[in-house]
Amino acid sequence: MPPLNETHDPQLRSWVASANDGATDFPIQNLPFGVFRRQGSQEPWRGGVAIGDQIVDMAAAVAAGVLTGDAAQAAAESTLNRLMSLGQGPASSLRLALSKALRSGATQEATLKACLVPQAEAEYTVPARIGDYTDFYTSVHHATNIGKQFRPDNPLLPNYKWVPIGYHGRSSSIRVSGQQFPRPRGQSMAPGASAPELKPCARLDIELEMGVFVGSANELGTPVGMDQAESHIFGIALFNDWSARDIQGWEYQPLGPFLSKNFASTLSPWIVTLEALAPFRTPFAHPADDPQPLPYLASAANSAQGGLDIELEALIQTARMREAGTAPARLCKTNYRHAYWTAAQMVAHHTVNGCNLQPGDLLGTGTLSGPTLDSACALIELTTGGKNPVQLPGGEQRVWLEDGDTVTLRGWCQRQGAARIGFGECVGTILPALG
Ligand code: MN
Repeated sequence: MPPLNETHDPQLRSWVASANDGATDFPIQNLPFGVFRRQGSQEPWRGGVAIGDQIVDMAAAVAAGVLTGDAAQAAAESTLNRLMSLGQGPASSLRLALSKALRSGATQEATLKACLVPQAEAEYTVPARIGDYTDFYTSVHHATNIGKQFRPDNPLLPNYKWVPIGYHGRSSSIRVSGQQFPRPRGQSMAPGASAPELKPCARLDIELEMGVFVGSANELGTPVGMDQAESHIFGIALFNDWSARDIQGWEYQPLGPFLSKNFASTLSPWIVTLEALAPFRTPFAHPADDPQPLPYLASAANSAQGGLDIELEALIQTARMREAGTAPARLCKTNYRHAYWTAAQMVAHHTVNGCNLQPGDLLGTGTLSGPTLDSACALIELTTGGKNPVQLPGGEQRVWLEDGDTVTLRGWCQRQGAARIGFGECVGTILPALG
């Protein structure tokens, strides 16, 4: 696990004034990586680093000679896969160089200032070529709540507390924040019907997750043990795994979700590195009465600080709210520390059979519902399967998502003695179904 170092010092200030506003997601202690260009331009996509309300254009910074070396060059490319492949050491050295160059009084200020692009003028793309995408199911609260609805007599299957459950998803439909996509069509079987119908999804839902980007690869046939697992993680972003519950209910047995999941998934533009998250580690344990993880899923470091204290929320703004100028309303609030399996355990389990992870692979955590109803992170839980609508400002209700709804995910970390850091936003909007 990356240690604390001078880049985490809460006293650090930047010559980028907006980075010193205590409310920013991107103070000098964060320095997340993304890929951007100026909105509406034909400029090449290139890597950038968020600082306050600005972006350090890494291609410009390398060209100007302010940042040098292989990691800086890799961070300037149109995908971050090569930076990820270098492992945590080079990324950490680059983070230190950026931290020094962005500090108040840095001699690089004048040169680097010319390499800033305002975030308000930027557009983003998915920051890595995602070769493979795996979605886990690491919230026991989500698994129990969902299980009650699909299998009232048998909500939590017996493997759950032993196996970090996951399935292989599809990466081609993962897009960046701002994604707008049509309501999916698919087969669903209405209660009491004798045959399914092909029609637009009627039970469209969100899943508030985190997306864990794999850094350095492991060779095929070479499992990654718990003590090395985190060194194969580059960083984490917000992730909305949109889900079509009516399609899912009909198709999911026996091989799991398929077309109910692969029509769209939305990522936030910025990847917050594991190093930036170092001040926000928490102890991790299964409840004493639960099975303890098998040895390949356990380590002293994971017990001491395998968890991550990341506050998460989802907000909704309907088309009518948007027209009325009503601010988005919170649907739920949770914390990543409630997860039943850690990011390290996802890596150790995924590779225990010799499966090779590659730079830029994405591991979804699964819906990160917490222990209470208001910390449930999907409408299927918040409305108890559609029975209890969510009340919205202006008198509207929602059971499932409707056309024109915009959902925003946010995440941030806050702790005494550390600078607050955030993840930015993950925004997506539902369009009417294709005809
Ligand atoms: Mn999911």
